[in-house]
Amino acid sequence: MRVIVVGAGIVGVCTAWYLRQRGLEVTVLERRAGVAKETSFGNAGIIAPGYVTPWAAPGMPRKVLSYLFRSEAPVRVRPSASPATWRWVARWLRECRLPRYRVNRERMHRVAFYSRMQLHDLRARLGIRYEQSQGYLQLLRGERDLAMLGPARALLDESAVPYEMLSAERVRELEPGLSRTAPLAGGLHLPEDESGNCPLFAHALRCAGEDEGVRFRFGAAVERVAMEGGRAVGVVSDGQLDRADAVVVAAALGSVPLLARCGVRVPMHPVKGYSATVALDAAAIGPQRALMDEAYKTAITPFANRIRIAGTAELGGPELHLHAAPLRTLVKVATDWFPGAARYSDAQFWVGARPMLPDGAPLLGATRVPGLFVNVGHGSTGWAMACGSARVVADVVSGCDPEISLDGLTLDRYR
Ligand SMILES: Cc1cc2nc3c(=O)[nH]c(=O)nc-3n(C[C@H](O)[C@H](O)[C@H](O)COP(=O)(O)OP(=O)(O)OC[C@H]3O[C@@H](n4cnc5c(N)ncnc54)[C@H](O)[C@@H]3O)c2cc1C
Repeated sequence: MRVIVVGAGIVGVCTAWYLRQRGLEVTVLERRAGVAKETSFGNAGIIAPGYVTPWAAPGMPRKVLSYLFRSEAPVRVRPSASPATWRWVARWLRECRLPRYRVNRERMHRVAFYSRMQLHDLRARLGIRYEQSQGYLQLLRGERDLAMLGPARALLDESAVPYEMLSAERVRELEPGLSRTAPLAGGLHLPEDESGNCPLFAHALRCAGEDEGVRFRFGAAVERVAMEGGRAVGVVSDGQLDRADAVVVAAALGSVPLLARCGVRVPMHPVKGYSATVALDAAAIGPQRALMDEAYKTAITPFANRIRIAGTAELGGPELHLHAAPLRTLVKVATDWFPGAARYSDAQFWVGARPMLPDGAPLLGATRVPGLFVNVGHGSTGWAMACGSARVVADVVSGCDPEISLDGLTLDRYR
């Protein structure tokens, strides 16, 4: 059986790997010159299944409104937001009610916890190294951050995710590089969570996949899915038809027009985020594990001899401009916590678009078009969900039963 995967972000690369493990003949078509060149490129790298939750949550609308007039706001709405953005916001608002939130969160957790298991299996089997570090620590600047942790702790308890509350002194013991003068009320430590360099992992898995026979074609922009007699029979790129028994669309936001032409509507919208990557000074003590500044919702992740600072959720159009205000926030947060650790003026800045569905969980598996499958809509936690989603989709395409239930994770939920 021949399968074409469209898109070589982290989701497409993992999908190709698991399809090949099922014995299928796999070709990946990617419009860029390599793997993980778009949203998977500059993300924060955090894998924290307990914190994989929908953006649509009770209290979020009020929080977003309160951020509107703050220059260092972690959530921003561009005034240029189009009617499509507002339609998406209307659907998102409906998903913010508590019962919907609970349903959506359970779906995401199902994928994320399964995904971490798959990642660990893969890592053990292939020996892939991707600048990973163990643990995830939320930094709480003051009493307000501490008080706001209540609901998050309740949810962690509910999901039996191990964590420990730490005093400021204990946080500084675990993170000796933290500024001595930055206000710090304490921290919440999740020892089982982890982080790693997502594009590095994608490269390694691409190589492992090629060794096992997966073909990658770069610079191949898929124009449409080819249909015959109501079924998908391949894809067209550069005016040329590539035939296949099955097509898996894993092209994040690029999936929307491809699927729409087949009559499959997916309410995915870009939510932009920014990151800065900078070399650590040789003598500096950087972060020992992934950190999250709760007040600014900004992550600081260690990658070998660099650190990455990432954050901001910005609703607006599809264009990817490096706006100054969110970049200033990244530098401020890094300078607050690690003032002398790097020359932040030399940072490489990046902006990416999270492929966000209004209700949060990704869409996996079959569509109502025979031969057409999806692995899309991973939003702000696609790295944390990539291996699990890919394994599930490969199982569905090859006719095996997935190990987790697909209830609420297929396109059926929008019917
Ligand atoms: C600032 C920021 C921080 C983040 N932090 C985290 C984090 O800490 N943890 C986490 O789990 N997630 C995080 N994410 C989210 C995560 O990066 C995404 O969910 C994930 O990268 C999505 O992967 P993907 O493969 O679906 O998309 P992409 O990486 O965008 O890949 C899609 C690919 O499809 C290709 N494509 C599109 N259309 C076509 C076409 N027509 N023909 C051929 N190819 C096509 C594109 O070129 C692209 O390579 C973050 C995102 C941002 C922006």
